[in-house]
Amino acid sequence: MSLTQPADEVGQLAGGPAVELPAPPEFVDVLRARQRIAPYLRETPLFRYPQLDAAAEAAGVRGAALWVKHENHQPVGAFKVRGGVNLAAALPDEERARGFAAASTGNHGQSVAYAARVFGTRAVIVVPENANPVKVESMRALGAEVLARGATFDDARRHAAALAADERLRFVDSGDEPLLIAGVATCTLEILETQPDLDAIVVPVGSGTGVVAAGLVARTVDPGIEVIGVQSAAAPAAHRSWQSGALVDAPMGTAVEGVATGSPFALPQAMMRALLDDFVLVSDDAIHAATRLMIEKTRNLVEPAGAAPLAAVLADPARFAGRRVALVCSGGNISPAQLGALFAP
Ligand SMILES: *Cc1c(COP(=O)(O)O)cnc(C)c1O
Repeated sequence: MSLTQPADEVGQLAGGPAVELPAPPEFVDVLRARQRIAPYLRETPLFRYPQLDAAAEAAGVRGAALWVKHENHQPVGAFKVRGGVNLAAALPDEERARGFAAASTGNHGQSVAYAARVFGTRAVIVVPENANPVKVESMRALGAEVLARGATFDDARRHAAALAADERLRFVDSGDEPLLIAGVATCTLEILETQPDLDAIVVPVGSGTGVVAAGLVARTVDPGIEVIGVQSAAAPAAHRSWQSGALVDAPMGTAVEGVATGSPFALPQAMMRALLDDFVLVSDDAIHAATRLMIEKTRNLVEPAGAAPLAAVLADPARFAGRRVALVCSGGNISPAQLGALFAP
């Protein structure tokens, strides 16, 4: 399966029948999602840390007020579980009972595995061979069948889609699923209920579901709030596609697995133009420096993707000086080996 067609062929998968791109979710779908996930997932905290503001100040971001949305406190340590639970809860019983297949570098797989466990159904997750062992162990512990196939996420994705067709499982795509986008949008709903007076929300981007979800909610609640995506410059497929208006692949060289996608996703891309104020790139080094800072100053476990928003703020002091900014700390699933390398002298 290739998702690299020009924009005028969006929804047409190469070599297969024409597939309609699903309709983008609307704000009411976010309200429905909140109702569906409420029995299973609690709200996560939105905290300020004087030490984090001071660190930003020291880096030249004068007078900014930073809020951290703690999606690392979700039961699987990442925001995606909001989407998995929403999708599983919304499906017809018969479809849910057949079980799910998904491809993931880890957190989408944990989300689907968690949802399958909550609803007592099967989950088969295909991960790339170098997947983060912390995430793989969590998926297995949740009861998912985990298969390691291929060197990259995109290889694993092709394998999972074929497996789903063979075994009549519901393939849960990590990007082109309106129910996932509506589910993860509940994160921004919580942010704005807790702190409506914000100038900007900064969200890490892999497939782009999280950032368009934030845009959908912020546009509805207060169009004055800027929604800014951030991606690793070493895996800029979503950024290049957003910039060019076509679905274009890009080299995938990032070590930040939460945002490691080589191909763009059609549905979030179709929503991005209207919903993002800006989309920036930061280096892996900047993301790793921001990860150390987040861990030190908030005393939380933060995975590198979850620190990308802080990296974006530190990279552009003039833009964020004096502004009130929510940073979506999207996940905390860092392995002991990654932590060791991050803090190695
Ligand atoms: C998936 C993921 C992202 C990227 O989210 P998308 O919705 O794919 O853009 C960022 N951070 C973490 C921790 C993730 O698991």
